[in-house]
Amino acid sequence: MKAVGILALQGCVEPHVRVLRSLGRDAISVKRGEDFEEIDRLILPGGESSTMLRLLERFSLFEPLRSFCLSRPTWGVCAGAILLAAKVEHPSQVSLATVNVLAHRNFYGSQRESFSTEVRSSLFDKPLSADFIRAPKLSPLASTVEVLAEYGGDAVLLRENHTLLSSFHVELESDTRLHQYFLSLEVAPR
Ligand code: GLN
Repeated sequence: MKAVGILALQGCVEPHVRVLRSLGRDAISVKRGEDFEEIDRLILPGGESSTMLRLLERFSLFEPLRSFCLSRPTWGVCAGAILLAAKVEHPSQVSLATVNVLAHRNFYGSQRESFSTEVRSSLFDKPLSADFIRAPKLSPLASTVEVLAEYGGDAVLLRENHTLLSSFHVELESDTRLHQYFLSLEVAPR
């Protein structure tokens, strides 16, 4: 079985590695084009999406990353979700555009206004422990996008085909259910 990749240009990488290893999966940092050969799915972690974009350009990773995300299970967490969204605003920036979602950056406030809360998801009986850290608002742009959890009336966990987006972090908590769900995602035959 191939490893799970975590895009490791910047941001919250190590906690995902720890959770995945605790679930018995090999997890590796993805920093170079060759790394895509070693993995069968990828997490784009939280961090600062504009910094990640600059590094993607600098290391010529934008296109290889985009083609991987179009064809394999991918989970964008917070800044990672912003990178994957079809359209980004407040302020606008380019994106990989692999999922029909609009991302409004920093919708849930500044770093100081970060908060932890419980989020109910149709995936699980018990609510998820969720950390909102300068989190974006994520709005579906197509009926193919399934909303898996809402908070305050807005979508915060969404899936379109093999792409999962969360506006919040779970990897800082001891809850591993969303990682387990991500590991179960497969690519639907066309
Ligand atoms: N506000 C950040 C951005 O726009 C995302 C914050 C996060 O990933 N926790 O990229």
